Amino acid sequence: MTTPQITLYNTLTRTKQAFTPLDANNVRMYVCGPTVYDFAHIGNARPVIVFDVLFRVLRYTYGADHVTYVRNITDVDDKINARALRDFPDLPLNEAIRRVTEKTETQFMSDAAALGALEPTIQPRATDNINEMQTLISSLLSNSHAYQAAGEVLFDVKSMDDYGQLSGRNLEDNLAGARIAVDVHKKNPADFVLWKQSSDHEPGWDSPWGRGRPGWHIECSAMSERYLGQTFDIHGGGLDLIFPHHENEIAQSRCAHGTHAMANVWMHNGFLQVEGQKMSKSLGNFVTINDLLETGAMGGRAWIGDVLRLAMLMTHYREPIDFSVNRLEEAESKLRDWQRAARGADVAECDAPDASVVTELADDLNFHRASVALDFIAKKANREEGNAKHCLAATLRFLGFSLTSLLTSNDGWEEPAHIATAIADRLAALNAKDFAKADSIRNDLSEQGIALMDYKDENGDRQTKWEMKA
Ligand code: AMP
Ligand code: ZN
Repeated sequence: MTTPQITLYNTLTRTKQAFTPLDANNVRMYVCGPTVYDFAHIGNARPVIVFDVLFRVLRYTYGADHVTYVRNITDVDDKINARALRDFPDLPLNEAIRRVTEKTETQFMSDAAALGALEPTIQPRATDNINEMQTLISSLLSNSHAYQAAGEVLFDVKSMDDYGQLSGRNLEDNLAGARIAVDVHKKNPADFVLWKQSSDHEPGWDSPWGRGRPGWHIECSAMSERYLGQTFDIHGGGLDLIFPHHENEIAQSRCAHGTHAMANVWMHNGFLQVEGQKMSKSLGNFVTINDLLETGAMGGRAWIGDVLRLAMLMTHYREPIDFSVNRLEEAESKLRDWQRAARGADVAECDAPDASVVTELADDLNFHRASVALDFIAKKANREEGNAKHCLAATLRFLGFSLTSLLTSNDGWEEPAHIATAIADRLAALNAKDFAKADSIRNDLSEQGIALMDYKDENGDRQTKWEMKA
């Protein structure tokens, strides 16, 4: 297997550079994950999909056992507290918070699986890393990069000579921009919170600085260090995280450890937009992943995760996407063409993805050129040339797409009868609340390499899709 040279656009240097890992035996990537207070919207799906493709390219290049991908779960945040108080006013706060975060986290995992994303190697929770955060804060205090004021511990931005490298902002810009409310207890308006006090009505942990909770940025510095070390290869997230989140992660990590870099390559996906505006919870212009997959939230019908995945990848990850029903239709038609061309493939005949497709992706994730290469293979498959059909199937699976999700008997595709029967039996068991039987059918199929995914159709009825496991 020839391995492609990976090149990646680095926000830190504003250039596309050849990628060389610090250790080819353990390539390390950290991506900021969701704040689990509400269902993720389709804008949040973009980093999930984009960095999943990169994870796959890295695994192909360095070997699946030589890549560590960490995506955190932010389960301490004031938005979570507010949601817990709103939804469970009668429960003790800790219990209410647990209900909100568990439900949201479970939904996020199922959304990510429906989008064809592999599970990251490690998905640490912020609340399991409070000690690590406190250790970092103590280091910053003891080497004079942080100070205590008004019950908070703050990072002193002036103590870092090259603060602002990632975003290209300097402290004067921040002052001139002074949209940040000037807090009198801060030495500099750009100083940011590492630890803040909690009242009795807020979640809190004991610390040398009183009972409190961490600021937003410190969790990623603590978790990336714990799982990936003080300096690692790639750090990713959406464009909105460059400032202040990533800038401040860099400040904390480098100043605590005395290093020149937190991560060598910083990657940011562009925004998914609606009519020119970033999709976001606060603007209210959002569609959740769950709504898109299960209800008629776009175009009056449900779409499958594969289609959302392709719709997202059709635009280069650094460009903005204007999201529309047209785009979903285009993706659906393209994916159906590929699945039809791969019909009847035997993946055992070719288990590696097509090298030209991987090479295009290795060039800063150029999915457009990769899809042109796939079209070319699909053409050959339609002409029954060589092993094109098998190679197409292997490549689609490598890219995280199902081989059958859009096929019907009209395509000359017959669902194996025993699977259809087992699925029908399981649905009947679920509807009769016989969960033991339903689980046993799922386990039987799982042993045959078949994974089941439940969803609701337009009428709100429970349905099940299946897929050969990757
Ligand atoms: P949040 O839960 O808001 O912190 O977002 C989780 C991830 O989704 C972060 O990497 C964000 O940068 C990213 N994100 C949020 N909104 C969008 C959007 N409209 N388009 C693309 N990425 C987004
Ligand atoms: Zn982060």
